[in-house]
Amino acid sequence: MTRTEKLLAELIALPSVNPAFLPPRHPGAGEQCVADFLAAIAARAGLEVEFQKVLPDRANVIARLLPRNPIRQSILLAPHLDTVGAEDSQFIPRRKNGRLHGRGACDTKGSIAAMFTALCELPESKSRPQETEVVFAGLVDEENAQAGSRALTASGFKAALALVGEPTRLQVVTAHKGSLWLELETRGKAAHGAAPQLGKNAVLEMARIVEALEIGYTARLRKRRHPLLGAATVNVGTISGGAQPNIVPDRCVISIDRRTLPGETEAGVKREIKTFLQSKRLSVRVADRKLAPALPLETDPELPLVQKFLRGAGQRRPVGVDFFCDAAVLSAGGIPSVVFGPGDIAQAHTADEWISLAQLERGKNLLLHFLQSLP
Ligand SMILES: [Zn+2]
Repeated sequence: MTRTEKLLAELIALPSVNPAFLPPRHPGAGEQCVADFLAAIAARAGLEVEFQKVLPDRANVIARLLPRNPIRQSILLAPHLDTVGAEDSQFIPRRKNGRLHGRGACDTKGSIAAMFTALCELPESKSRPQETEVVFAGLVDEENAQAGSRALTASGFKAALALVGEPTRLQVVTAHKGSLWLELETRGKAAHGAAPQLGKNAVLEMARIVEALEIGYTARLRKRRHPLLGAATVNVGTISGGAQPNIVPDRCVISIDRRTLPGETEAGVKREIKTFLQSKRLSVRVADRKLAPALPLETDPELPLVQKFLRGAGQRRPVGVDFFCDAAVLSAGGIPSVVFGPGDIAQAHTADEWISLAQLERGKNLLLHFLQSLP
């Protein structure tokens, strides 16, 4: 068993479910046990360790390998410590046919194991960087509100490049979409169901809006394509309106998930939807949002460190993915970020999550070689 595999099995056995997905004070909730576990190993490996408090009983764990000479640049390894919820049996790691099964195997304890093992092996290796500081930051709360990555950037932390751990099948990802959840409301006029001509039906108006969004608006979005991400999309996810059959409904609300491309802003998207619907003679109110939007990611693939990492991974061009992650938050905070890690997003959040052990080890080796190649 390799060091990477052993560490991953130990991490799977430490539940770190995001508290947002569990009842209050659930014993399996929170990332602290994983943060403490990693801090102890990092200290034994001679790294500098600190905790960065983010939320009550929830802290990012930060481990640094300092160079012998003055620091010329910092490289950040940034996987998240939390997972989505799971059955108890998923916290027992199981090895079968070259795969390791369990909650977090690919999302994203596999990345933690690969990044952390690479970092711990670096001081023992002959070619450790002389002027580059390597910082591992295990971040809390990625699966819910990204409080960990937001706290890290708010602290003023800067790096020349962040490698954000997520299952990308070891592909170097420089772009992902963002996500904007919006609530749209129509207003009508109530009347007796026996005399619908006296009212104005808000559900009927909304039905026309839903169709216009799904067909006309989607067709318009398809005309604008990002080279790595394709087109933005819209999904009408929920609808509610009306009180009972014999009343003309005076209100109807839908919620939509608009996946955004780099460069799109919340205000711009709201304006675009309103203008589009107005052109179809449909009127709608867009409610103010309560949650921060999930931003899109776009990192310049021509940056020298990104080019170096791409070459090391044997990849000519970067790729884009549909899912959102901490990389966008770090990037918005001024840290150029790419997403990279072993495992496949197809197995993330599933009842039978697993990772290929060969890919896990290859990921660790790619990371180690990249870190060794830094000045
Ligand atoms: Zn993840």
